[in-house]
Amino acid sequence: MADRPARKPRQVRQAQVLRTERLTPHMQRVVLGGEGLAALPAGEFTDHYVKLLFAPEGVTYPEPFDLEQIREQLPREQWPATRAYTVRAWDPKEPALTVDFVIHGDEGMAGPWALRAKPGDTVRFLGPGGAYAPAQDSAWHLLAGDESALPAIAAALEALPDGARAHAFIEVADEQEEQKIATAADVVWLHRADRPVGEALIEAVRTLDFPPGHPQVFVHGEAGFVRDLRRYLRIDRQIPRELLSVSGYWRLGHDDESWRASKRAWNAQVEAEQETTAVS
Ligand SMILES: Cc1cc2nc3c(=O)[nH]c(=O)nc-3n(C[C@H](O)[C@H](O)[C@H](O)COP(=O)(O)OP(=O)(O)OC[C@H]3O[C@@H](n4cnc5c(N)ncnc54)[C@H](O)[C@@H]3O)c2cc1C
Repeated sequence: MADRPARKPRQVRQAQVLRTERLTPHMQRVVLGGEGLAALPAGEFTDHYVKLLFAPEGVTYPEPFDLEQIREQLPREQWPATRAYTVRAWDPKEPALTVDFVIHGDEGMAGPWALRAKPGDTVRFLGPGGAYAPAQDSAWHLLAGDESALPAIAAALEALPDGARAHAFIEVADEQEEQKIATAADVVWLHRADRPVGEALIEAVRTLDFPPGHPQVFVHGEAGFVRDLRRYLRIDRQIPRELLSVSGYWRLGHDDESWRASKRAWNAQVEAEQETTAVS
């Protein structure tokens, strides 16, 4: 049997926290800088994301940090945990990479880290990845998401071509979580209050009077409402799948490890349910 091709080592970058800012009661901005950001290939997509690396409690790694070696030599539970975060803004001149973290309680690694982060702290990350940017020639744009997708939706709205038609729905806990976004687009802030996450978003998108033509779609956030909205857009609205950027960024009741472990099966089930019914 032929040897499997060796996996290309992924570049790990190290950055320092330059500054932090509490944008709203549940959103913490962390701006990263340092030489590790030199020549970061960001800017093409508005949903660029990095995968931050966090050492499990009590684990330290030998320097120089070598992810491949760690994965070869240490047991899995000692590998760094990864958390995906959107590049809210990227300024190659400073350089400065801005990331906005939802503060969702004491649980988890990334949210609590962001809350404690102070200038000079270091963090390592992989990436950036990314796949979506608003198209110049789309009939219109539909964007919907919860707080976790707010950074990507805001970046997309700020990058919309002049005169583009867009409907954006952003669900947040309450009025205090709203942010200013530099856009001429129609942005509707939905307040969750006591309702389950995503319920208000589903309702808002379902009652939208769709303009003519297919929209380019960006829907992200909690996996449950994302699946339901995908079903509506694919089956009821017959939007071609190539116009959809739709995925679960997190899943209620699961941490990121457990969500990622079930994601493939979840997505396969969504495909099986929705793609056999959708026409195009
Ligand atoms: C491509 C991509 C881009 C993303 N961009 C951002 C971003 O810019 N900002 C951002 O905040 N998140 C973003 N996320 C989501 C983020 O990666 C997850 O929310 C992640 O689970 C947070 O890690 P944690 O260590 O804080 O919590 P975990 O250890 O993963 O989870 C701990 C507990 O918190 C819950 N939880 C996790 N996230 C949330 C949430 N948002 N609201 C309420 N409860 C939650 C979990 O269900 C679990 O019960 C993105 C995800 C992807 C895939």
